[in-house]
Amino acid sequence: MPEEKAEIGIIGGSGLYDPSMFGSFQEIKVYTPYGPTSDMVFLGEYKGRKIAFIPRHGRGHKIPPHKINYRANIWALKELGVKRVIAVSAVGSLRDDYAPGDFVVVDQFIDFTKKREYTFYDGGVVCHVSLADPFCPQLREVTIESLKSLNLKFHEKGTYICIEGPRFSTRAESRLFKSWGADVIGMTLVPEVNLAREAELCYVAITMVTDYDVWAPKHVTAEEVAKVMAENVDKARRLLADLIPRIPAERTCKCGEALKEALV
Ligand SMILES: [Zn+2]
Repeated sequence: MPEEKAEIGIIGGSGLYDPSMFGSFQEIKVYTPYGPTSDMVFLGEYKGRKIAFIPRHGRGHKIPPHKINYRANIWALKELGVKRVIAVSAVGSLRDDYAPGDFVVVDQFIDFTKKREYTFYDGGVVCHVSLADPFCPQLREVTIESLKSLNLKFHEKGTYICIEGPRFSTRAESRLFKSWGADVIGMTLVPEVNLAREAELCYVAITMVTDYDVWAPKHVTAEEVAKVMAENVDKARRLLADLIPRIPAERTCKCGEALKEALV
């Protein structure tokens, strides 16, 4: 058993690179069998909870979505003793009523990525982990409570389509994804979420809408997008500050037993 250096892992998305909200923190390097994590791992404490923070794209946003070492990031969190992962990311909206600035606590995803490392089990032991319900029900519930108490505009459900990128969608693709029932679109959820399940970690994705994807005949300027993103980052910080102390110490979910029937 690894020594528990942290219990809650936070993976920060676009704009959320700065762990200073957790007071003083220690930067450590975690060596993994998969190579380097996106950045140093920041260890800190917030209201008595031990936190490990990784900026998904690295500080200064240097790593594009298809080059993120998802396996190293999840492996490092697991190694530090983390049991819960809160993943924050920016998304585009595929529906009118999911507006820029809204939070979406997604409950399903469609994987449209093409060439990533999807598993810790590449042979020797075969693992077919269940992803029917990809997100931790307990963490989703606490997140929703927190969003309600802060009076932030949010949606309790949503299907996230994860594309390979780094390019954005064509209009035809965007309309197709919409017709499939996807509600928001992004480039980083997969394989982070499935690796977390393989590592038996609880995982919740907190997505924040930046703009409407290209299906919508709405022209937005880069300035408008930047403004929404800055506001979203501020709201995400407030949410994390409220959410972290609410997470119950004990897990009531089944995330910690994900491999029970998965290994062949
Ligand atoms: Zn869980």
